[in-house]
Order: sequence, then C-alpha cells, then structure tokens
Amino acid sequence: MAPLERGVVIVGGGHAGYQCVESLRRGGYAGRLTLVDADGQLPYHKPPLSKDYLQHDADPARLHFRPAAFYDQEAVDLRLGRRAVAIERRGRSVVLDDGESLRYDQLVLATGSRARPLSVSRERVADVHVIKTIADIDRIRARLQSVHDVTVVGSGFTAMEFAATATLLGKSVRVLARGQRVLAQALPACLSAWLLEEHRRRGVQVLFGRTVERVELDESDTTGGLRVTDSSGAAHRTGLLVAAIGAEPETGLAAAAGLECEDGIVVDAYCRTSDPAIYAAGDAVRFFHPLLQRQLRLESVQNALGQAKTIAAHLLGRSEVYDAVPWFWSDQYDLKLQMAGLHEGFDRLVWRGDPASRRFSVLLYRKSRLIAVHSVNRPGDHMAARKLLAAGVSPPAEQAGDERYRLADALAA
Ligand SMILES: Cc1cc2nc3c(=O)[nH]c(=O)nc-3n(C[C@H](O)[C@H](O)[C@H](O)COP(=O)(O)OP(=O)(O)OC[C@H]3O[C@@H](n4cnc5c(N)ncnc54)[C@H](O)[C@@H]3O)c2cc1C
Repeated sequence: MAPLERGVVIVGGGHAGYQCVESLRRGGYAGRLTLVDADGQLPYHKPPLSKDYLQHDADPARLHFRPAAFYDQEAVDLRLGRRAVAIERRGRSVVLDDGESLRYDQLVLATGSRARPLSVSRERVADVHVIKTIADIDRIRARLQSVHDVTVVGSGFTAMEFAATATLLGKSVRVLARGQRVLAQALPACLSAWLLEEHRRRGVQVLFGRTVERVELDESDTTGGLRVTDSSGAAHRTGLLVAAIGAEPETGLAAAAGLECEDGIVVDAYCRTSDPAIYAAGDAVRFFHPLLQRQLRLESVQNALGQAKTIAAHLLGRSEVYDAVPWFWSDQYDLKLQMAGLHEGFDRLVWRGDPASRRFSVLLYRKSRLIAVHSVNRPGDHMAARKLLAAGVSPPAEQAGDERYRLADALAA
C-alpha cells in the first residue's frame, strides 16, 4: 500500500486500537500511524484486571501488549494521556484535549466502553469504585489492604469475577444483584444456578432483587467505611463498595461528529461508520452479525481483535467481512468458563459431563441446530464448538451428551 500523506489515526489504545496497529504494520502498511489514548499507560490487556492483576500481580508492565520499544521500532506515534475531544470530518482531523489537531486520511475509533456509574449523591461518588483501568484496580487494591467487608453491586462477568478474586484474597463478599440470577445475560438459567452455588459454597453472600438506594459514610467507622442501603431497606456496613453494573459504549466523540450511533457506533460489514473515512471497532461498536442475523454490540476481547483485523485488512485493500462466531471466557476461582455462540432462543439443552465434577459443557440447540456451547474446565469442547459453529455443523443432540463422542468428529461427518 502506498503511504498516505496524513496516515491513519487510531483513537483508543485498548484491545481493538492496539490490534489495528499490529495488523496494519504486519500487513505492510508503511504510512503514518498515530495512536491516541486517554489512559496514561502503554496499551494493555484488560481481562486480568478483575483476576490475576488484582489477586497477585501489581506490576502494570506485565499487562502491556508490548513494551515502549515496539512502538518506536514500528514508527507508531503514541499520544498517551491525551483524549480526543472532537472530529472535524470535513478537514479530516481529530482535535486532542491539549488543542493539537491530528490530520488523517483514515480514522479508526476504538474508544471502547466506560463503566456504567452507580447513581449516588455527589459527595459519595468518589467512594464508589469501578473496575475498568489499571488505576481503578490500584485504588481498589490499596483499599483492600485495610478492609475486610466488600460489597459488589452487579452480577455480570466483572462483578462475579471481582467477587471471586476478593474471596480468594480472604475478604467477606456481599453481592447486590438487581435480577434473580448471576450472569443472567450470558448464561442459561441452569448454569447461573450452578455458578451461584460455587460462589455461595465459598461464602459469597448474593442478595437478589436489590438495587442501591443510598450510600452514606458510616459515622461509626473512622477508616472511611460506608453504609449502603439497598432497595429492600436493608443497610450494609462495608469497607469497600464496587459497582460493576455494566458498561456503556464510548460514543460521545462519534455522535458529536454526526456519525450514526445507536447504543454503539453503527458500522457495516467492513467496520466502516457512516463516514467512509472513519472506521470503528470493539466495545463501542454496533453491527449486523450475519450468523446471528441481527444487530448487536459485543463486549469481548475476541470481538475487539476480530473487528480491528477486519479494519486493517480493508485499509490494506482486502475486503473481508466480519462474521466471526462470538466467544467469551471468564475465570472465577479455579473455574474456566468458555462460551461459544449466543444461546438466546435455545429450545434444547444437552449436558455433557457431570456438573459435580466441575468439568462439563452444555450444548444449546434451536430447532435441532447448535447455537451455543458453554464449557466449564473443558477447553477441548470449547475449541471444537467454535469450529462447529463457524462451519454451521450441529452434532446430533442424542450423541453430544455422551462424553465418549468427540464433538469435533461431527465436522468430518
Ligand atoms: C475488568 C475487565 C475484565 C474483562 N474480562 C474479560 C474476559 O475475561 N474476557 C473477554 O473476552 N473480555 C473481557 N473484558 C472485556 C474486554 O476487555 C473488552 O471487551 C475489550 O477491552 C474491548 O476492547 P476495546 O479496544 O473496544 O476497548 P478498551 O479495551 O476498553 O479500550 C478503549 C480505549 O479507548 C480509550 N479512549 C476512549 N475514549 C477516548 C478518547 N476520546 N480519546 C482517547 N482515548 C480514548 C480508553 O482510554 C481505552 O484505553 C473485560 C473487561 C474488563 C474491564
């Protein structure tokens, strides 16, 4: 590809932004490449934040995708700690918070998502922790040094991962869940119930049907403890309050520039926004998924990486539509949960392996077609599931529950 005059500017140095850099350079893109990120860190892995990084490892450098030298070698102009505040589409430039204007030929928005804030009084905002960045976890870790009782609001992936890690750190953990089960969007009810028991067995107290009504300073606690009143009227004294109630797509920049947004920046099959000079990828993006036949927004590393690769391919002159089977993972205690496909609308569920062994999968079918496989400590099933779902091959439900039957064999049938 001939170097373009102004080059590619990428806003957001998370999984999608970093992957775009890597794939462009690996694909031979020799033009100017600028990566802007509001976080002051070198681009880094987010998943360990609620897991290993919180539990063991306080060295941020271990989370970085690459050391600083990589960006020098690859001639990537890094603008860390700089926020993009406006896009001037007519002149093709991005304005940063220090007033600098970066001109682009192509712009990639990889702005991710932000933690949904808990609604509390203005005085208490700083007492509510979220789990999104290294700085967030460093603050939580510092607080955990001196508190024993922890309250988590939310029951999605991040909330339950945090609950697991805090428990492993010896803390007493209470979860306030708005709905009636954990990981309600990600898992079928039977798996939610199974996982809930894993948490309860380790002492996590999960209270369902509760939202937070009020957060106040606990006057009887001189160490800055809080009194959290939930919607049932119960008051909980807690040393640390963490809100993990979901994420909202970072669409502000795109929307202000007049790009089409609807719970995410709307992109086409090549991850182009409504302006053909501007692409978008990752948590911030809403797109039509050809396999699922509907619009959706996904918050996963796999989706961020896949969309970034699609953008790089398009910028390098190859038209590859983004149609990957969604997959996710979550680590809680010694459990590796891996989910391939989306289970919504399933009408048949097949157990493969004994849940009591803590090594099993559930296969979910709709009209005899395999639509998702959720595995616990069975990575082989997960890998086979991704291949089966991508190929549109459904192992017969009658056989799939038999552990002697190899799921991957269905591909050859
Ligand atoms: C604690 C935690 C645990 C997770 N665990 C898992 C997991 O186990 N498995 C999994 O698949 N996914 C997991 N995820 C989700 C996964 O990390 C995200 O889906 C992924 O990071 C999305 O990548 P992204 O590049 O779209 O956004 P991000 O990685 O969030 O990056 C967006 C970047 O954009 C920057 N930015 C935003 N706006 C601007 C602006 N205006 N100017 C400059 N910079 C800007 C931000 O600073 C940020 O660095 C986890 C997420 C978190 C927070």
